[in-house]
This record gives sequence, structure tokens and C-alpha cells, in this order.
Amino acid sequence: MAVVEDLRERLLRVVPDERRVANGDSVLEQHAGDLSYHAPHRPDVVVFPESTAEVAAVLELADATGTPVVPFGAGTSLEGHVIPLEGGISLDLTRMQAILALRPADLAATVQPGVTRSQLEQAAGPHGLWFPVDPGADATLGGMAATNASGTTTVRYGGMRAHVLELEVVLAGGQVIRTGSRAVKTSAGYNLTNLFLGSEGTLGVITELTLRLHPIPDEIVVARAAFPSIDAACRAAAAMIGVGVPVTRCELLDALTIAALNAFSGTTFEASPHLFVEFGGTSIDGDLATTRELALDEGATSFESESDPTARAKMWSARHNALMASLALSPGSKAMTTDVAVPISELPGAIEHARRALEETDLRGGVVGHVGDGNFHVAFLLDPDDADSIERAERLNARIVEDALERGGTCTGEHGIGFGKLAYLEREHGDLVPFYRGLKRLFDPNGIMNPGKAVP
Ligand SMILES: Cc1cc2nc3c(=O)[nH]c(=O)nc-3n(C[C@H](O)[C@H](O)[C@H](O)COP(=O)(O)OP(=O)(O)OC[C@H]3O[C@@H](n4cnc5c(N)ncnc54)[C@H](O)[C@@H]3O)c2cc1C
Repeated sequence: MAVVEDLRERLLRVVPDERRVANGDSVLEQHAGDLSYHAPHRPDVVVFPESTAEVAAVLELADATGTPVVPFGAGTSLEGHVIPLEGGISLDLTRMQAILALRPADLAATVQPGVTRSQLEQAAGPHGLWFPVDPGADATLGGMAATNASGTTTVRYGGMRAHVLELEVVLAGGQVIRTGSRAVKTSAGYNLTNLFLGSEGTLGVITELTLRLHPIPDEIVVARAAFPSIDAACRAAAAMIGVGVPVTRCELLDALTIAALNAFSGTTFEASPHLFVEFGGTSIDGDLATTRELALDEGATSFESESDPTARAKMWSARHNALMASLALSPGSKAMTTDVAVPISELPGAIEHARRALEETDLRGGVVGHVGDGNFHVAFLLDPDDADSIERAERLNARIVEDALERGGTCTGEHGIGFGKLAYLEREHGDLVPFYRGLKRLFDPNGIMNPGKAVP
């Protein structure tokens, strides 16, 4: 206890505000865990910096004292990323929430890391622009960069790596560096911007980001198709991508998830597997007609499209509620979410394999996916205190990952490694692990940055 008080006293010298160097029970608890089944662990103290200089001062102090630091955005990551496994400092970036510059002529914005994607969307909208990376949760842009997040629109626009032009990062000892530039392309040197994207707070703290924006499409239409089976829905999605229909979103929801959504969001979707598809542009009638045809070829039992903004927003908000709706089916449960991605031609086979594997257990899980990217999730609902069901879910997750790797895919399409997927990273990229460790030592020689995550 005395050690913790001493740490807090020292932190107060660099962040001189009692409210921003907090160690009350509720704030420690809020920074101890995430929505996943991973066991929580409290930090010793939570620091809320308001500037790059404060972040640098905290990291300098932490490095000198060997204190672990876990950056914290909105805390919506799903593989234990933000859990301070060794205590220390949870560095909550949500007070760094300024939009520093909006440059419509460059289709770009510069923001602090605590700005959420919806805040950026609100600021860009009046300029006819939007930021399309949308992980469903209203995450911070710093957290999204640190996990290389993607989401429903990635099939058309790409994920965070396609959108970050420039970063300011504070390294473990407090040094501030900048990577990239405001130009949309560069061939200058190693691509350290991409190295920090997806580094999960293990190499440094992102304190500023310059991001690409896009014009809001003139016309947007969404379509909802119900299918007799999940395989038929997957085949239809693979066919749409295969013939090059330029969809902006292509999302799969299985019957269990649709039923959960109807109960949670008051929607009345037919209780069967669905594809939710969106088109954006200037002349989308042809794309819509091709999609309808491909869906009907796979036996779609209904196909409805709408362009009304309220109806569109309702449909996507229902989709974004999928995880919460599933959790509501079993109050008190926590989620284990698989997150494999495979080449699109392998998608129907991979989902069929996952579905059969799920049927062989008595676990309850819904399948959803950004299927246009070949990325899907099975969300198991687990009692976090039931070790047996967690073990069975872990075995099932391992089977799904193994199958994805055999199909030329990856153990995580978007959620990242955290500590829940460390073993799978080793399985997927064992030959690269020594290089990962070397990079970690180079940027963080004393191992204070989010220890126990991302690098096996
Ligand atoms: C309902 C739901 C749906 C989701 N759907 C998707 C999805 O479709 N696609 C997807 O990609 N993810 C999805 N996620 C996961 C999650 O939203 C993303 O991983 C998101 O990018 C995390 O952002 P965050 O601000 O919550 O970061 P946090 O969870 O706070 O942090 C994530 C990681 O980044 C590090 N970090 C945070 N801020 C910084 C910083 N400034 N500098 C350095 N490191 C930092 C943390 O230490 C941690 O390792 C979903 C989550 C939920 C709850």
C-alpha cells in the first residue's frame, strides 16, 4: 500500500491534479477488465493525462521506476488488452479529446487519441465528409489505431491501416516521435506508422493521429436478405465479392443473433440467417439488381431494400447491437468472441466447419461476420465463473482457428491479440516471434508498456 501511495505522490508531481491521478475503488474497477470472459485485474492507479507533455512525463517516471503502463481508450477491446495483468498505471486517454484540425480540402483530420469515431463523424459531417472505420462500439481513435480496428465498411474502404497518415507517439522513456506525414503517400524509410498500428499499447502511447476522411456518398441504399441457411447466405456473399459488386458493407447475422436483436432492439426481422448489405455512390441500381439476383440464386426467401436514412440507421444500429443483444439473452454472461478471417472463397467452408463444431458442443453462440472481408465471429455466452464451459469454449475456439489457418487465414481479423490470442499468434507466426520480441526490446527495453500482451 505504501508503495502505491508513493507512486501516486510521484505521479502527482507530473500530473498535479488529485482528480486525474485516481485510486478510488470504482475507478480502479472500471479499468480492471473488459466485456470479455478474461479475469479482471486492477491497476494500482489510473492517470488521466491532458497533453502529450503529461503522457511523456508519466512514461519517463514509469520507465525509471519499472512501473507497468497500460494505455486505456474506451476499453471496448475483447481479448484482455486493457487488463493491467501486473498492476501499475492505467493511462486513460479519454481527456485528450480535441479535434486539432479538420482539413476538408485534404480529406483529412488531426485528432487527439481520446476522440471517438462518432465525435469525428459529427465534426466531419457538415463538410460532407465521414470517417468510415466503424468497429461497432464507439471506440476511441487511439484505441482503434492501437488495435488496427476495422468493421462493417472495411470491405470498401479498408481498416485503420488504410486511414492513418501520421502519428505522434510517446515512447517508454518519454521521447516523443512522429511517423508518416500529411501527404497521402510516402516512400520515406521503414513504415513505423504501420508498426504502431496494431501494437496494442506495447510499443508506445499514440498521442496524435492524422486520419483520412471520405466524401459522404450521394446515394446510399441498404438491402436485407433472409436465407434458408447460413451456408446459402455465405455463398451469396462470396458470389457478390467474387463478381466485384462494390458493396460498402456486407454483414452476416445468423438466426440466433437475429432473434436476439428482435428481442433487444424491437426489430421484427424474419428469424433466419440474414445478409445486411449496403451500396453507396452515384448509380447503384445495377449493383442492387445484381445482388438481388445472386441472393435469389441462393434461395433467399426475402430481399428488401431501402434508402430512407432513418430506416438505414435503424438497421445498422441493430447490427451494432449484436453483441449486447446476445449478452442480454443470458444476463450476467460474458463473451468469448472468435475472430478468424479467411480468403473469401474459403468463407462458406469455414463457417460450415464452425457451425458443425458449435453443434457438437452444448455451448450457445451466435455467428456474425464482416463476411465481405472473409471475417466472422462466433460469440459464445459464458458464465465467467464456470471454468468447465470456458475450457470447452476455448477448445472450440482452437478448432475454429486451426481450420482458418489451414485455409490460409488468420487467428484474428480485427480484434487483435491482447493476451487471449497469444498462443494462436505463436501458432500462426512462430517464425516471426523472435523479431516481434526484438522490436519490443528496441522500443521498450524495460518492458513497461502493456506487459503480457501482443508478444508471446
Ligand atoms: C460490441 C462490440 C463490437 C465490436 N466490433 C468490432 C469490430 O467490428 N471491429 C473491430 O476491429 N473491433 C471491434 N470491437 C473491439 C473494439 O471495439 C476495438 O478493438 C476498438 O478498436 C478498441 O478501441 P478502444 O478505444 O475501446 O480501445 P481500448 O479497448 O481502450 O484499448 C485497446 C488496446 O489499445 C491500447 N490503446 C488504447 N489507446 C491507446 C493509445 N492512445 N496509444 C497506444 N495504445 C492504446 C490499449 O492498451 C489496448 O491494448 C468490438 C467491441 C465491442 C464491445
